[in-house]
Amino acid sequence: MTTAFRRTRAIIDTQALRHNCQQLHAFAPQSQILATVKADAYGHGAYTVADTLYGCAEQLGVAFIDEALDLRQQGIQQPIVLLDGCFSETELQLCCEHHFIPVVHSPQQVSALLAANLPQPLPVWLKLDSGMHRLGLDAAAFSAALNDLKAHRNVKEIVAMTHFAAADDTASNYTQTQLEAFDAVMAKHAEIPCSVANSAGLAYWPKARRAWLRSGLLLYGVSPNPHLAAPFALVPAMSLTAPVIAIRDIPAGACVGYGARWQAQRPSRIATLAIGYGDGYPRHARDGTPVFLNGQVVPLAGRVSMDMITLDITDLDAVEIGDEAELWGKALSVHKVAEACDTIAYELLTRLSQRVPREVI
Ligand SMILES: *Cc1c(COP(=O)(O)O)cnc(C)c1O
Repeated sequence: MTTAFRRTRAIIDTQALRHNCQQLHAFAPQSQILATVKADAYGHGAYTVADTLYGCAEQLGVAFIDEALDLRQQGIQQPIVLLDGCFSETELQLCCEHHFIPVVHSPQQVSALLAANLPQPLPVWLKLDSGMHRLGLDAAAFSAALNDLKAHRNVKEIVAMTHFAAADDTASNYTQTQLEAFDAVMAKHAEIPCSVANSAGLAYWPKARRAWLRSGLLLYGVSPNPHLAAPFALVPAMSLTAPVIAIRDIPAGACVGYGARWQAQRPSRIATLAIGYGDGYPRHARDGTPVFLNGQVVPLAGRVSMDMITLDITDLDAVEIGDEAELWGKALSVHKVAEACDTIAYELLTRLSQRVPREVI
């Protein structure tokens, strides 16, 4: 799709990405970093992020093999972990060919790996289900698999991993319980490098900073918990901007947008911006959802349309057609928008559509 004329765009700040990655290395100097670039790097552009973090993040992580093959086709060379693993022998062969590292999380994947006829041994990440009950082997199957894989011709290095269900909740003891379950299983395998933490795990749980940190949100410059600062300074890597394309004055009592949801309580000035749910701006945004325009936060007024949103700019002076608003980014945290839409930052970032050009700076 061509977007030569479109001014609505997501500005992707490569310096911010590198800054966040370097900060993370300084914060946890004993660990290596796997940068999760699944879902087009949470909307930032997988190629851009992978290319930018070359030399800083030691490995990349994607959900499934097509995402990894795309990166290879674009010339990305870092090792790539397939977080959902492989689902056929062909995929395992492609791992050998392209230097992908499959997660092995189910009895079926263990058997398939042991039975495969591979040209060379593969590094793998073996996953324990320590309490999330989504992916991973139970303790007994994990220990058995570890013993089988350690000596097997198809297997090179092994990293032991697990995933936390509630690491962003520092008041919950769930993470501590998961860590204890993981460490109990690993007690007999001290030589094996481990990876337990996502962004929230590494930020808030010091004991989770093991050999490999798996981080997405934090590298994109967003704190893993909307109400808790990250333990080091982050710079948001995405700024979503859209221009004002119309301005009008309406009398008290007049309504704005579909369903006439918003009604002016006083004579009001309304600005229309060129972004809507067709771009990934959430349709569920409530009246009052913050938007940053000309140095101030102004409220959304009226339902989000496919291509447009409307703002109450009555209290702003000097707004002109062409002025650019920030929907989220450095001036306005994506968390604030997510909160006003009953969702989370991850969803807003990953749902940004291909209709929004990414401008890499
Ligand atoms: C996506 C993903 C991560 C990264 O999560 P963030 O919260 O963005 O840091 C870590 N581990 C696994 C298994 C993942 O799928």
